[in-house]
Amino acid sequence: MAFVEPEAVEVKLPSKGLLGYSEKVLIRPITGREEKIIASATGDTIESAVNRVLNRCIKEGPKAEELTEGDKSFLLVWLRINSYFPDYSVEIDCPACKKVFKKFIDLKKLPIKEIQVERLPLEIEIGGKKVDLSPLTAQEVEEVNNYRSQLAAQGRNFEDLYSVRYAYMIRAIDGKDVSLSEKIDFVEGLIGRELAKLRKAEKLLDHGIDFRQELKCPLCGKSFTANIPITLEFFLPTEFREE
Ligand SMILES: [Zn+2]
Repeated sequence: MAFVEPEAVEVKLPSKGLLGYSEKVLIRPITGREEKIIASATGDTIESAVNRVLNRCIKEGPKAEELTEGDKSFLLVWLRINSYFPDYSVEIDCPACKKVFKKFIDLKKLPIKEIQVERLPLEIEIGGKKVDLSPLTAQEVEEVNNYRSQLAAQGRNFEDLYSVRYAYMIRAIDGKDVSLSEKIDFVEGLIGRELAKLRKAEKLLDHGIDFRQELKCPLCGKSFTANIPITLEFFLPTEFREE
């Protein structure tokens, strides 16, 4: 039997085309040909497997490796909803009673946040300098996460990660491209009110799917905000509610 490619549809990315790639993407659902890529992946290869799946399903648009973290999360949720179903079964740790409960998250209801600037890079004045900012690509988020393992290996503090993420957001200082360590030094040398400007800018650049959800523990009744974890059940769902 010949492989019939599912029909692709047009979706609009929450980065609004400000990153140099088009805001419109033609994408089609996952088939068994992509599912087998995910199913054969291990912890170390899952990220590249996800990229391969995205690159197969995106019929017109950017490469998965170019996407911002926000656009990637948006497309992954789109794929999950449109290839499978919006029900996503997760296990949540209650921060109050410390027990674990299961919950179905309706992925269609997770808020989609659009970038709030009109052009990139976003130019702001911080600490007397002109600073160019733009959101992190998914690739850069990977690098930040690798930095986390390096810190762990060196027995260093995770506090350092705080400045690293901001340093990645900085693309130039006074129009000049500077090294990562110089950017980290710049961030760490700022006083509080200047850091607040950086934080405000980060909010404007933020886009994609908001995975935070207001939940209520069915065991103790306490309400809290939780970050919905992405697990294997996201990519290879086994649990869903029958229609
Ligand atoms: Zn509880």
